[in-house]
Amino acid sequence: MKNLIRIFLEGIITNTRRILFASDRVTDMELRSKILEGRIVPTDKVAEVSCIGCGGCANACPTKAIEMVELPEPVKLMEGLVKDKIPVLDSLKCVNCYYCHDFCPLYALFGEAGTIHPNDVGIVDLEISKLLDEPVKISEDKIAFISQYLADSTILKKRKD
Ligand code: SF4
Ligand code: SF4
Repeated sequence: MKNLIRIFLEGIITNTRRILFASDRVTDMELRSKILEGRIVPTDKVAEVSCIGCGGCANACPTKAIEMVELPEPVKLMEGLVKDKIPVLDSLKCVNCYYCHDFCPLYALFGEAGTIHPNDVGIVDLEISKLLDEPVKISEDKIAFISQYLADSTILKKRKD
């Protein structure tokens, strides 16, 4: 009983200290000022230049958080491949499953960082035309598995049913 009262009192003291003095909070003063002054810049979710615009991420996303939007000017990536759309990720619909990243062909087929990421795509600096010329080094079944996700937006729905 004595112990319980001690734990209870310690809890009150710690929480009061946290509320009044913000001790041991993760959000530091610099970040708090940034939030209050509107200086937070949202992180990039798509590396637009390196993305090949295949639309696979939009097909694989289970919550339809990704929309492919038309580029003002289509970009020729290599002979026979023109990029005319890029993905836009809506963080409010995203459930952080990472399907978009993990099924992005640049990651899934070539083992490079995917050009889309639910949190922050970071720096993706790829020479796309060179990369697409490289042979894909994964098994036929894996390619078949990945391509069905990328090509058919009803797959995830079917798996859930
Ligand atoms: S991480 Fe988010 S955007 Fe990407 S597939 Fe999952 S829900 Fe969709
Ligand atoms: S799957 Fe990757 S390459 Fe394809 S549109 Fe999405 S981000 Fe771009």
